[in-house]
Amino acid sequence: MKIKFNDNFDKIPQNYLFSEIARRVDEQKRKNPSKKIISLGIGDVTRPLPKCVSSAMSRAAAQMSTREGFRGYGDTRGLPELLNSVAEYYKKRGVLLSPDEFFISDGAKSDLGNLCDLFDDNEIVICDPVYPVYLDSNLMSNRKIRFLSANRSNNFLPSPQNLPKKPFVIYLCSPNNPTGAVFSRENLQDFVDFALESGSLVIFDAAYESFISDNTLPHSIFEIDGARECAIEVCSFSKMAGFTGVRCGWTAIPHSSPLNKLWCRRQATKFNGASYISQIGALAALSPEGLTENAKNIAYYMENARILADFLTKKGIFYCGGVHAPYLWIEIPHAQSSWDFFDFLLTKTGVIGTPGAGFGRCGEGHFRLSSFADRTDVFEAVERLNDLFNSYKEKNCHFFEKK
Ligand code: PLP
Repeated sequence: MKIKFNDNFDKIPQNYLFSEIARRVDEQKRKNPSKKIISLGIGDVTRPLPKCVSSAMSRAAAQMSTREGFRGYGDTRGLPELLNSVAEYYKKRGVLLSPDEFFISDGAKSDLGNLCDLFDDNEIVICDPVYPVYLDSNLMSNRKIRFLSANRSNNFLPSPQNLPKKPFVIYLCSPNNPTGAVFSRENLQDFVDFALESGSLVIFDAAYESFISDNTLPHSIFEIDGARECAIEVCSFSKMAGFTGVRCGWTAIPHSSPLNKLWCRRQATKFNGASYISQIGALAALSPEGLTENAKNIAYYMENARILADFLTKKGIFYCGGVHAPYLWIEIPHAQSSWDFFDFLLTKTGVIGTPGAGFGRCGEGHFRLSSFADRTDVFEAVERLNDLFNSYKEKNCHFFEKK
């Protein structure tokens, strides 16, 4: 073949983080098929969909097989009823955006990647560690990246104070995947003020907003003064309502932003709208019954997080998160690399987490545990980790030390 490929793909890791984890797990299963693997790794939900969501989707599917109820291509922006419901969802928290400032998507990941189409060669600012999609999709477009370190000394909440006053596209994720850290209003105000002064844009990923349990913490960038002039927001039904397999999300772009028109044009060209059935499911997920069921599922995951957090606290292992996010971000002492630690835990206990290095350079030396799991698995994981911890303690060496 003589065509030229996008050689920017050479700049990103050859395997997506979770594909590499799956590869190592498969190898372990081949070596030790009888050992049950407990996954606290990939951030995929495990609770079934709320009944009202699956019933609404069944009805929508049945309706599609009738002459009157059949639906073909829909509005690329999304079902008007769903756009209204999403706008109402924001209104409850005092954020006033009109339905046509939202765009329904097939999930946050696609929008976060596709938004790159809207920008020229602006410099990008990304917190490190963070969800890898922002970095990889901008590297594929050959953009220059600047990192803001999130570490123990800044409570995993970087600020824009050392950035030069020039326009950047700044990605923020709160609650953060992987650290579980959440920006306060003041933290976000600093970013919005910086963006207004420098002419920057903030892309705010709110995929975990529904896990925030303290009402003083912001769920949306649009709760912050001035954000309408410099920010857009990407969000998802995936973690909020268990839609990782159903696929539905949204992006909010205020009218005042030139990006509203650009995104509309981009979507009209490259997207034909989210599935009608998914959107009907999403509508049910935002109904009073859906919201109550979602909250129960989130409480279940957060109880898992509490159990894991208790174990870590008892053993004196430093971690962040686990309160407003389904992730616990553990510091691995004794300089073991996060992939080595992943292999160590996998072979010794059959418990899988996610190596911090997969989320950026500052993620090295850390390990993410996800609370998206069945309760019995969480108890078993804690038991196995506890046994490992104790056996190493008896040998008078540290739990995390490789022997
Ligand atoms: N944003 C963050 C921070 C995530 O962790 C994830 C998924 O894990 C997504 C976006 C993607 O969500 P979706 O399933 O809607 O594509």
